[in-house]
Parts: sequence; C-alpha cells; structure tokens
Amino acid sequence: MTSIVICTQTDCTKSEQPSTLTVAAAREQILASSKAVEGREQLSLRDSLGRILADDVIAPMNVPEHVNSAMDGYALAGEELPADDSRSYQIVGTAYAGSTFEGHCHPGDCVRIMTGAPMPDGTDSVVMQEQVKVESEQRITIGSGHHRGQNVRLAGEDIAIGSSVLNRGRRVTPADIGVLASLGIGEISVQRRPRVAFFSTGDELRSIGEPRGKGEIYDSNRYSLYGMLKQQDVELLDMGVVRDTPEALRRAFQSAAAVADMVLSSGGVSVGEADYTKSILSEIGQIQFWKIAMKPGRPLTFGHLGDALFFGLPGNPVAVMVTFYQFVLPALRKLAGGERYNPLTVQAVCKQGIRKRKGRYEFVRGIMQQETNGDISVTSVGHQGSGILTSMSRGNCFILLPESCGNLNAGDTVQVQPFACLF
Ligand code: AMP
Ligand code: MG
Repeated sequence: MTSIVICTQTDCTKSEQPSTLTVAAAREQILASSKAVEGREQLSLRDSLGRILADDVIAPMNVPEHVNSAMDGYALAGEELPADDSRSYQIVGTAYAGSTFEGHCHPGDCVRIMTGAPMPDGTDSVVMQEQVKVESEQRITIGSGHHRGQNVRLAGEDIAIGSSVLNRGRRVTPADIGVLASLGIGEISVQRRPRVAFFSTGDELRSIGEPRGKGEIYDSNRYSLYGMLKQQDVELLDMGVVRDTPEALRRAFQSAAAVADMVLSSGGVSVGEADYTKSILSEIGQIQFWKIAMKPGRPLTFGHLGDALFFGLPGNPVAVMVTFYQFVLPALRKLAGGERYNPLTVQAVCKQGIRKRKGRYEFVRGIMQQETNGDISVTSVGHQGSGILTSMSRGNCFILLPESCGNLNAGDTVQVQPFACLF
C-alpha cells in the first residue's frame, strides 16, 4: 500500500531541506542580516549601566590629573636620596590628599605626604613611612635602597587626556561608570534599546493559574525567554500564548512586527499538522532557513517579518534556551549596536564517556567544577532530552561538541561554555 503525504504547508517543497547548515554558518547568516537599530538616548551615568555606548568616549582630562603620592610617607627630591649609608632630613610641612603643600621642598628637606596628595614643588619621590626612622617632630632619617620616582603616580597614567577611553558598541559595566565618573562625565549617549516581541504558540498551553484539561501543559517557554531577555538591554513585549491556527498566528506575527525590531515565537516549527509558523512566515515575510545540524534546536526557523528579524524557536523548552543563547543573543547584541557577542569558553576534562553523533553540533548540558588541583572538570547532567528543562537549571555549562566530534571517552578534553558567561 502506498502512503500519501498531504502537505498543508505552503513551503512544503522545502521540507526536503537537509539540516546540513552548520551552527557557525547559521550564526553568520543571522549576523549578516542583523543591523543596529537607529536612535540614541542621553542618559545619566547611573542609568547608562548595561547600555550600549553610542559614541567613543574621549578623555577630557588626565586621570590622575596631577602627579601624586601612592603611599603615606615623605616626599623629597630623588637626587637627594642617600646612595648608601643614611641621611637625615628636615620635615618642612605636610601635604594631604585634596590640599596641596604650598611651599617648595629644598635639598635636605622633605614633606610629610598622604596617599593621593599632589607632589609638592621640588619633590619627585616618596619614601614609605614604614621605611623611615622618625627622629623628632621635625626630622627623619632615611636609609639606602630607594630610587628616584618611587611610590609616585604619574599624571595621566590611568587615562591620558585626549585618549579614547571607552569605545562605541561597548556595554557599560560597573567599572566603566566608575571610569566615566573619574573623568567628571555625568551624562552619556547610548543606543536605543531594541524592542523584542515574544509569544508562545500551542493549543496545549495554559498560563499559570488557568485550569488545565488532560494533555494541557503550563507555558514555560515564555518564562525562560523572559528571564533570558530580561538580562539583556531590551524593551520587552510579552504577547502571551497564540493558538495553533493560521489566522491567530498571522495576526500575532503582524502585530508583533509592527512594533518590534525582533520577533520571537516558540513552538510550531516542527512538521506536525498544527505547525504553521514556517508557512505563515513565508506567506507574510521571508524564511531564510529553518533547519540546523544541531541538537537540541534543529528546527530553528530564521527569517524576516517586514523590518523585524524573526526567530521561530522550537517548542521544546531546552531547545528554546539553547537556540536563544547560540543565535538570538548574538543577533540581539548586533541589533543593540554592541560589539560582537563572543562568550568565553574554557577547556575542561570530561569525566565520563558521552555518546555523540558526528555531523551535527551538540550542546550537552554539563556541570563543571574546579578540582582541588585547580583543573576544571565536567560531567553531563544526565538525561539530555530537549524537554528536560531541569537539565538547564541543574547544569552550569554547555559542553560544546562540534560537528566533527564523535563519541567522547572519559578523560577527553572538551570546550565548555559556562552559563554564567552567557549574558
Ligand atoms: P511544537 O514544536 O509546537 O510541536 O512543540 C514541541 C514540544 O514542545 C511539544 O511537546 C510542546 O508541547 C512543547 N512546547 C511547545 N511550546 C511550549 C511552551 N511554551 N512551554 C512548554 N512546552 C512547550
Ligand atoms: Mg506546538
């Protein structure tokens, strides 16, 4: 008996597309079609934390502005330091941080100085107070072994006036706002946040608190997506759950694309009878690809809805998170005007054998830890099903197993990507 396959999807001819698109090639395609959003905002320094700089920041002054002492001690001219033996000096005054010593330090004199105080005239070196012998209120003795210029911070040694301190595209960190404050910069220009609309699709999905019938499940994807998006510098538009009908999906796509720079859906990208995402995308937008040689996350669909980027994430909860981190996040960073997203990976020794099929990239959830000798080791969290969402909360890293990699033996070296670096 011959079986007849009835295709209800407008793009069914493409269902033969082999999943040979590699993770790297898919990421490059996505990045090539992602453009930084236009628009910028002027923000106060504190509000700029986590935002993307719209311009290079050029230092309007030196930091430190003046040569100053790096220690509490005694300032004097380096050429007056004893070469060998020891020498006595008269203390002619005190220099505090924030108030300068106005006099001049002559040969044979020294000035008591506190950390951060500008170097008095006639001095270029500081001897730590622990290294002098205090003879009286007016005199100290210094021994040999000191050198000219010691314990002094030079003007501009941290930041030189006119230099580029922070580059456009940088995501502002706590250290950065400190650096900007040290330059007296109180406001900064940042890129507009990308607007991201997201929704779940599926007739089986219920929201928390709703009664559930048999086979109905709670919508978890919208929560993990919210969590991952919340850690980004984006404006969120949670569009809820969309039913598995072409009409509902079409409406959701259109209203999302009208307001967002990026649209994320989850579910409906497999080849089941209620999977309409691809057909509606090709009807009202463009599909760029819809299958990647990876696990989990193979049916990721990528394309465009008007000016918005569209990601049809798989429905399986682990696949949602893997594809978000591996594809959506790099695109989002580019949309936000940021530098290329390149999360850190580290080498680890795999403590167990792992079965791996060549020809596809596998993102195995692992638990990495530091051994007592300092080495990093990793084990699989166990069950790797793409519906086992607890594998993402129990794990702390992806074990990265690229296309060319086959089965692993215990003791093999692997690259791992710590979840803590995925932000
Ligand atoms: P689909 O691609 O729509 O067939 O979904 C694949 C699997 O993921 C099915 O078992 C769905 O029930 C499940 N799934 C889809 N969307 C969600 C969601 N928002 N939350 C939890 N599970 C989901
Ligand atoms: Mg579905």
